[in-house]
Amino acid sequence: MMDSKGREINYLRLSVTDRCDLRCIYCMPESGVTLVSHDDILSVDETVRLTGIIMKAAGVRKVRITGGEPLVRKGLLDIIRGISGLHPRELVLTTNGLLLCSMARQLAEAGIERLNISLDSLRDERIRRISRRDVSLKNIEDAVAAAFDAGLDPVKVNCVVMRNINDDEIGDFIRWSWETGVTVRFIEHMPSMLSDDTFVSRDEIIESASVLGEVVRHYDEGTAGIYSFKGTGQTFGIIAPFSDPMCSSCSRIRLSARGTLYTCLAEENGVFLMEPLRCDSDDETISELVRGGVTRKPDSHGGCVRAKMWKIGG
Ligand code: SAM
Ligand code: SF4
Repeated sequence: MMDSKGREINYLRLSVTDRCDLRCIYCMPESGVTLVSHDDILSVDETVRLTGIIMKAAGVRKVRITGGEPLVRKGLLDIIRGISGLHPRELVLTTNGLLLCSMARQLAEAGIERLNISLDSLRDERIRRISRRDVSLKNIEDAVAAAFDAGLDPVKVNCVVMRNINDDEIGDFIRWSWETGVTVRFIEHMPSMLSDDTFVSRDEIIESASVLGEVVRHYDEGTAGIYSFKGTGQTFGIIAPFSDPMCSSCSRIRLSARGTLYTCLAEENGVFLMEPLRCDSDDETISELVRGGVTRKPDSHGGCVRAKMWKIGG
């Protein structure tokens, strides 16, 4: 459906859990995360039903499963099978990759077509520092190989760029993407528990990439700008919510694991759909709430990102 600003809404990011096996410094606090009881998150059946209602009401064609870490969610494969049965045009998933070696094939069989894997450094010591857990590059390279083996390609690797933490690895990441066959996408860091001076802009990322050749803007792919090296077919992406917000063409809405619909990262409260769902409201009543929320989608996040990424799915 079109929102009140004439933007076509067709992409749902579905967070299936707010639990995670990592504690990335830019996403989650190290401690003190209150675990939500299982009764307070949507069940498998509720998730599939609500996704179907939202898809119909808003005209969603692409669904991305995310989290927290979606692969730790019990019943994930049933959720995927259920949503696959709703026949979205694209069904994709974002993961930190840790459980992928044992799950890639099952994910593909359940209906996932493609994956994004998050990785913020190529150096073990930094990966451990950023994720606050004992993760190595080998773990993620094995995850990438498992994704390719299961036919889940192209594999995109997302890297949040942070000043004095990993911003000296842009060139290394691009070379690594050539070696492994993944597509790398650098993400501008959005406000979180890190200080503002960790922010690295799109232009600085391009400047760092330029050590490998002249960089030209190639095309846009959703919220990512795709850049290439002149005279080669080699590309990389930048997602720049601040330098290049793309709010005027934003097609996204988000559903949290607690059943709240958010239409923008700037939204604090969202539309709480769990209650009507559990009070036996019919599909049309819930559809009206969805359409009302979409109609009120803000013009832009205006630099004010209130969302907690691990709850809303990034
Ligand atoms: N756990 C999965 C993962 O890490 O891929 C999925 C959920 S995570 C919230 C989704 C994406 O959001 C990841 O690519 C992560 O890097 C990104 N993200 C989280 N916090 C962010 C922040 N403060 N700024 C930019 N990207 C962020
Ligand atoms: Fe977990 Fe993903 Fe957030 Fe890292 S970015 S803490 S893996 S949800």
